[in-house]
Amino acid sequence: MVARIIPVEPFDLVIFGGTGDLARRKILPGLYRRLADGQMPPEARVIGAARSDMDDAAFRALVGEALEEFLPDNAKDPERIAEFLELLSYVRVDATGEDGWAALKEHIREGTVHAFYFSVGPSLFGPIAERLKSQGIADDKSRIVVEKPFGKDLQTARALNESLACHFDETQIYRIDHYLGKETVQNLMAVRFGNMLFEPLWNSRYVDHIQITVAETVGVGGRGEYYDRSGAMRDMVQNHLLQLLCLIAMEPPGRFEDESVRDEKLKVIRALKPVAPEDIVRGQYADGDEPGYKSAVNNPSSKTESFIALRLGIANWRWSGTPFYLRTGKRLKARASEIAVVFKDAPHSIFDGPPGQSNVLSIRLQPNEGMEMVVTIKEPGPGGMRLIQVPLDMSFADALGEQAEDIPDAYERLIMDVIRGNQTLFMRGDEVEAAWAWTDPVIEGWEDRGATPSPYEQGSTGPEEALMLLHQDGRRWREIKA
Ligand code: NAD
Repeated sequence: MVARIIPVEPFDLVIFGGTGDLARRKILPGLYRRLADGQMPPEARVIGAARSDMDDAAFRALVGEALEEFLPDNAKDPERIAEFLELLSYVRVDATGEDGWAALKEHIREGTVHAFYFSVGPSLFGPIAERLKSQGIADDKSRIVVEKPFGKDLQTARALNESLACHFDETQIYRIDHYLGKETVQNLMAVRFGNMLFEPLWNSRYVDHIQITVAETVGVGGRGEYYDRSGAMRDMVQNHLLQLLCLIAMEPPGRFEDESVRDEKLKVIRALKPVAPEDIVRGQYADGDEPGYKSAVNNPSSKTESFIALRLGIANWRWSGTPFYLRTGKRLKARASEIAVVFKDAPHSIFDGPPGQSNVLSIRLQPNEGMEMVVTIKEPGPGGMRLIQVPLDMSFADALGEQAEDIPDAYERLIMDVIRGNQTLFMRGDEVEAAWAWTDPVIEGWEDRGATPSPYEQGSTGPEEALMLLHQDGRRWREIKA
């Protein structure tokens, strides 16, 4: 099998915050890989725009070092890297002042796709959008890409949406949630809507429950101050986990295209039931191999959660009665993200002995992206009808061989979608607001109750209460394993 790479149109991509961590770790290495794969045309140009004072040569040197640091060795081709660096230039721009905007305008060519990536803090989204328009740099066809966090509650998200909407139409705004760019997430839609097999069973009659886990081994790292104002609910659940839940739970869209998909996701968010206190478990990692959460964020009285587990319900015909269990946390046992659809047991066992366990379709986002279906079969050999559970493994590495190594990173895919003008895998403004409208009362609830998160051991699966959340329902979390 040979991957089909369709080159995108020539483009000018301006990266505000082009010298920052995200640009160096994800955006620029991703663009290089698209060039090396033949998807980014050699006529494309990438313009770094940031506060630091440097010239093109210094920016190229900085990007060269970033590629060296963040690309895997087998992706480094000195000739292609040199070719990529040639496409880069740099403009010093003050996002909140007047410096640099005229120079930036000179870099934008006629007849190309124009995209502006706001890889800067959200407080700069409005000022940059305003200047792009007032200085005549962006027009009605330009696209802007904005990063998370998109607000910290409904009010701030609305204000951000309004500050962008003053200058750009919704069809020009690409709100990134990089979870949506993952190969398996799109494959989830292919499996659901490209096969007859699953969709008829995809409802509360046949699905016992659904688990979504995003487990990290890292702590808050250098983001302590930001994280302590945010917590796992705002940082992970409101965006990434809810987006995954939407794709699992949504009705089949009429077509796999921007508005149809986003309309269906929005309906799921609006159908989420309010969450009762007994459906929430919050945790904070204790001292261990690394300083505990409170020391890491330098706030001895912090009540912010570094772990959260939730039991959710969706009030519609398809899902009434099926619980969705979500959990995410830092300093856990392994780095593993997965969605597991756990089907009900067969209604009656015709075999002697204990009934087979239920079928599980698990969709792994990381590591080792792929899918696995657990089915019951007869244990081979003599000895009667003994049933065993075996996984039908559909991991990409096995199924696709070397081609799996070329699966683009989420950022690469999403940036190419921006150039193509495809918004399907980006969040619409009303979706983000609906997600905050559901999140806000949950957070206000525990703040009003003065609830404190339970400590949990580093390298564990979270606080004991999280296990109880499922035990009470006669269920178990799936193992967190890398
Ligand atoms: P960073 O602090 O490393 O970089 C910030 C960049 O913005 C720098 O290039 C800086 O020069 C530029 N900048 C700051 N103020 C400016 C001004 N007034 N005018 C012009 N340029 C200015 O930040 P980062 O980690 O790259 O994150 C950028 C954005 O992406 C943030 O909103 C962050 O929340 C988000 N984000 C980052 C990551 C990540 O992994 N780093 C992941 C997801 C989202």
